[in-house]
Amino acid sequence: MKKKTKICEPKRKGYKTLYEKTKNELVILSEITSAMMQSLEPAQVIYTILTALTSHDGLGFNRAMFFLVDQEKQTLEGKMAIGVHSADEANKIWNQLDDNHLMLPNLIDAYDKFKNDPESKLNNIVKGISIPLCEDTGILALTILEGMPFEINTDEAKAMVNENIKDILNTDNFVTVPLKTRDRTLGVILVDNIFSRAPITKDDIRILNMFADHAALAIENSHLYEETVHLSHTDWLTGLWNTRYFNEVLKETIKKTKEDDSRLTLLMIDIDNFKTYNDTLGHQEGDQAIKNVADILNSSSRKNDFVCRYGGEEFSIIMVNTDKDDALIISERFRSEVENCFKKKSVGARHAVPLLTISLGMATFPNDAGEKNDMIRKADLALYESKQTGKNKASIYTPELDK
Ligand code: GH3
Ligand code: MG
Ligand code: MG
Repeated sequence: MKKKTKICEPKRKGYKTLYEKTKNELVILSEITSAMMQSLEPAQVIYTILTALTSHDGLGFNRAMFFLVDQEKQTLEGKMAIGVHSADEANKIWNQLDDNHLMLPNLIDAYDKFKNDPESKLNNIVKGISIPLCEDTGILALTILEGMPFEINTDEAKAMVNENIKDILNTDNFVTVPLKTRDRTLGVILVDNIFSRAPITKDDIRILNMFADHAALAIENSHLYEETVHLSHTDWLTGLWNTRYFNEVLKETIKKTKEDDSRLTLLMIDIDNFKTYNDTLGHQEGDQAIKNVADILNSSSRKNDFVCRYGGEEFSIIMVNTDKDDALIISERFRSEVENCFKKKSVGARHAVPLLTISLGMATFPNDAGEKNDMIRKADLALYESKQTGKNKASIYTPELDK
């Protein structure tokens, strides 16, 4: 009997250790998955993934880097990295995590702090990486093309690492894992233990692969969410922002302008005599003309201008940090570009095409109005003034228009 016990004991102990280990892994995975699913904003999801890979509560790698495929450019783009250039920095961050008893779900809140952290050198380096997706551009591209993980721990494997990446990331001992969904590979995660020099074991890679499946799902969800949000904010015909979103943005922009003690101008635009255009050429040509005007407004506006289709053949533009004088100059550019565009169109046309022009009106915060609805009403009054005084022109709101 004694003999029997002696033989069985180590076996039971091994089984128990394996059971405990698997249980721990499952707890970590479930915690990480729930953290990833808490956020739908892509950057926050990526941050949670990287934090889970590097935090002691998670998988505990020294550094983790995230790359996403750009389907249009056929490149792999560096998106974010957690980890640091020196062991000191690493310990500082990790001790902070321990001190604050940060659980993974709380790390979503920590993302905002990370985003603005100028000390995160590795993150800046990774964000600058763009690798063409070809077989000869190294191991990161290969991870995507082959759809399989790579362990870079032998001389042979190290020879496959692009020299550039070796230099930039200062690593030649790491693991890459693809982020695969049912029908495509979205990106790659790279992890290493550059400071502790701890070897990355087969077990680490097994759990990393399981983790990558969950991470890919979270990324795909966040991309679908982002697309849906974008669609709900845009106008189907012109691709400009829609009125509902315009109202939200105007309210927020006024608030921010107030805080910054700055100015903003709101421009309302209406196509002149559009009924005649529709009646002459038909509704479809009318739609095309609305699209043409939208394209002109969009391409002639400045980077920070918020261009929106306000209604049928009406548009509005929120111009931040812009006073009336500047807005008037830009308005004149819009007006003349629309006029010239339709003049050109009419030259080659077989039938007589009514010339399309636009009228514009503008009001400025805080001089003319202090809140959203008053701002819209006053810009509208200025637009009405343009219509009343000949059309194809821009007018500025003045208190006389209210009388
Ligand atoms: P005004 O110079 O005073 O603006 O004259 P207008 O003819 O443009 O008059 P108004 O702005 O009141 O009328 C706009 C017309 O635009 C009425 C409507 O038939 C047409 N319209 C509105 N939305 C659309 C649209 O999405 N597609 C097309 N093709 N026409 C539209
Ligand atoms: Mg109108
Ligand atoms: Mg009109």
